Order: sequence, then structure tokens, then C-alpha cells
Amino acid sequence: MADAEIGLIGLGVMGSNLALNIAEKGNRIAVFNRTTARTVAFHKDAGALKDMIVPCETIEALAAAIRPPRPVIIMVQAGAAVDEQIAHLRGVFSANDIIIDAGNANFRDTMRRFKELEGSGLTFIGMGVSGGEEGARHGPSIMVGGAEASWKRVEKVLTSISAKFDGEPCAAWLGTDGAGHFVKTIHNGIEYADMQMIAEIYGILRDGLGMAPKEIAQVFGKWNKGRLDSYLIEITAKVLEADDPKTGKPMVDMILDRAGQKGTGKWSVIEAQQLGIPATAIEAAVAARVISSLKDERIAAEKAYGNGGVTPFTGSRQEVLADLESALFAGKIAAYAQGFAVMAGASKEFNWNLPMPTIAKIWRAGCIIRSQFLGTLAKAFSGGPVPNLLMAPAFIEMMKEAHPGLRRIVARAAEAGLPTPALSSALGYFDSYRLGRGTSNVIQAQRDFFGAHGFERIDVSGAHHGPWGSGAA
Ligand code: NAP
Repeated sequence: MADAEIGLIGLGVMGSNLALNIAEKGNRIAVFNRTTARTVAFHKDAGALKDMIVPCETIEALAAAIRPPRPVIIMVQAGAAVDEQIAHLRGVFSANDIIIDAGNANFRDTMRRFKELEGSGLTFIGMGVSGGEEGARHGPSIMVGGAEASWKRVEKVLTSISAKFDGEPCAAWLGTDGAGHFVKTIHNGIEYADMQMIAEIYGILRDGLGMAPKEIAQVFGKWNKGRLDSYLIEITAKVLEADDPKTGKPMVDMILDRAGQKGTGKWSVIEAQQLGIPATAIEAAVAARVISSLKDERIAAEKAYGNGGVTPFTGSRQEVLADLESALFAGKIAAYAQGFAVMAGASKEFNWNLPMPTIAKIWRAGCIIRSQFLGTLAKAFSGGPVPNLLMAPAFIEMMKEAHPGLRRIVARAAEAGLPTPALSSALGYFDSYRLGRGTSNVIQAQRDFFGAHGFERIDVSGAHHGPWGSGAA
């Protein structure tokens, strides 16, 4: 009987949790997994939700179980597996049915799939889901791109399962075709920067101030009660509190300093470059993970150079801690300014008309970068368009107060030989952005000297060349 509200393909970590969440919110759901044993086990373990779940052994059975127009969420490995599922669904679905790819797709793949399905009668939604396993089970942040009419068909189910902030669902339609997956990608890029800047501050607390993990946990715990209140600060404090059951030592000290990545950070940087929008803190964060992976080279380089002559931070610990808090806050502002600038650039490029206040709002709960800060950001964007977050009146005030701390920390860390690639990139971005008379007059002169590219003068309009004489182009 076709009485399921929605279907889902892929009962891995994310898919199984999302399916339970959907069922728990009173939506009957049909599920299918490539490996049938997983479908059977999932249904068997669904407890009280069993009756809300229709386990299907074939895609044909899945299609037959859903009320038309049939929405089906694909939650499998991004890439070829998604194309395979779409091809299969094309064979069994009919006009107006809706295919929803909820994996971490590259938005360019989403645009391609959207185009490929045009004229087939089927519609396509690219849906970014953030919040990991816990979010999928109890309320993720959901970023939707596709035809608005298709969103209307699934809005009720998706808003019912999303996280809520002050009662408002953290799920929204953001624009056509790739808009949802693009926003999810930038969410992840910002997440990279947030995580890297926290790690850099941890490094200063550990190596500059000589603090033990549990002491550092207390610092993060305290900051989590103020303007840095966020999921990532909260879990960092918890991580630093934990002991390794095997050795009894702090868990964090037993973890190899080699970070993994799956690609969304890199995609953010590639797209920022394609759009010509600087995202230096995000770029630095992605590069820092790559450098972290060069463990053997780093060990050899430390032998060759020493570890930078790391000297402890001296002076008032209270003052340093206050500066570190400001540095993290100012760095965060710069990283979010960059992420939102990249989204604004893409919005123009792809005619999405991305609703910035809505994006900030649906990130306030459910997702990995959820924070109190995003509420402030949503308010700033609601106040009318600004060319950059750094120019929103509330942010001008906050940045004025916080950037001196960032400056002192970056300077002291450089002197101490402690790496702060994301924080210093954030500072460099801020300092370049707020400098009315920069230094690219010299670059223009150089370009004109060797390539006769011409330059603009400050006093007369038009293209000009310099008096470079012999040796110039
Ligand atoms: P997972 O636990 O590894 O599960 C993968 C699922 O994909 C399984 O159901 C698997 O089926 C299925 N699958 C793989 N290749 C397939 C193919 N060729 N044809 C059909 N089915 C195939 O993965 P996951 O963590 O749930 O991630 C799923 C998607 O969500 C990914 O795009 C991921 O990037 C995204 N995502 C993950 C997170 C997270 O925190 N984990 C957060 C947001 C988004 P079998 O059982 O048959 O192997």
C-alpha cells in the first residue's frame, strides 16, 4: 500500500538515524539499503518505531510503498553511488516524483544532476544535512536547493525532523539547483576555520602557557558561557577533560596530530578562488590539515630547524587569557565574513538569491558550527544588505573591541615560534580590508613595467603607463 510519506535509500550512519528521526516525528517511511541484511537488522532494531517503517528489499518495492508524488531521500556515499541510485529510480519513478540527494555532494554534481533530470518529469533536490549522527537522529540543520514546488511537498516532513531554535525549524529552502549543497559546503569550510582556530589557541595554551589538558578544558568551559558559546567550544572542553581508558593519560595527548579531511573544506577554497572571493582563514585551515598529515616530514624538519625556539608566554596570565578569547572571537568574525562573502559571490554567479539571514538562522541549532554568535549574525544581516559582515554596524563595534587581542596573540605567537596560520590569515584579511590606501599601487607599477599592463592614476582617469625607460616592456 502506498501510504509512506517519504522513502529513504542508504541505511548507513546518517541514513538510519535520519530514518528513525523521520519515523519518530510521525511520518511513515519506506526504507531500502543495497545490502538487504542491513535493512532487515535496521527494522528489527527499530523498537517502538517499527510500525512507522516499511522495510523494502528492492527499489521497486520502495517506490510502490510511497504516496505520490513520491519523495525519496538518497543517503549514500557521495559520487558515483548517487548517480547509480538516480539511474535506478528513473526506471521506477513517474512524473512529479522527487529525488533528494542528502549526502555531501559537490554542488557542481548537484547542478549536473538537476540538468540531467530536466525534462524527465522527475524533480531533484540537493539537500545539505549537518549535525553528524546525533543531529541526524534528533534534529539536524537542513539546507535545501531545488525547485520550490518540490520543497513544498517535503517541507512538512523536513521541518518536523530538523533542529529547532526558539521553536523555529532549522530547515529552509535556499534557492534553486545547487544552492543547498553549496551552502552546506561553505558551512563545512567555516567549520574547518573554526576548528583550526580553536586548535591554534589550544596550542598556545599548551606550549606557550604550559597548561595541562584539564586546565585548558576549564578555560574553554568558561569561554563557552560567554560570546564564544558554541558546540565546537563545548566539545573541545569535553575532549580535553577525557582520559584514555587504556593508559589513564589525557586522551588528547594520546591522539596522533594528523588530521583527516573528506573534501568539503577543499571544495570551499576551490569555489572561493573560482569566484575571486578571498577566504584566507578557510584556506589556511585546509592547508593546516594537509601540513598536519605530513607527520614524518615535520619530525625531520624539527630535527633540522628545532621547533621554532618556542619560548613561554610571560606576563599576566589573566591578560593573555583575555587576549586569547578576543583573538578567537575576532578570528571567528573574519572567517564568517569570508564564508558569507563567498556565498554572496556564488549567489550572484548562479542567480540563487541566497537568503543570508535565513542561512544564519538555520545554522543556530543542529549543525556543527551552531552557536550563539549565529543569532547575532542573523540580526546583522536582517538589518539590510552590507558588502561584508565586517561592515555590519554591530560587527564594526565587536571587531573594534576584539582585534587588538588578536593582533597581540598573533604577534606573540610568531615571536614564540607557535604556528597560528588561520588566526594570522584572519588578521591579515582584516588589516588588508580596512586599509583605505593599500600597497597594490606597487603591483600595478610592476605589472606595467614588465608587461605594459597599464595602471589607473589617482588624479586622472583612464589607462596610463609609467616612465620606466629602457629594460621595461
Ligand atoms: P556510511 O555509514 O558509510 O553508509 C554508507 C551507505 O551508502 C550505506 O547504506 C551503503 O550501503 C550505501 N552505499 C555505498 N555505496 C553504495 C552504492 N554504490 N550503491 C548503493 N548504496 C551504496 O555513510 P554515512 O556516514 O551515513 O554518509 C552518507 C552520506 O552522508 C555521505 O555523503 C556523507 O558525506 C554524508 N554526511 C555524513 C555525515 C556524518 O557525520 N557521517 C554528516 C553529514 C553528511 P551498504 O550497506 O550496502 O554498504
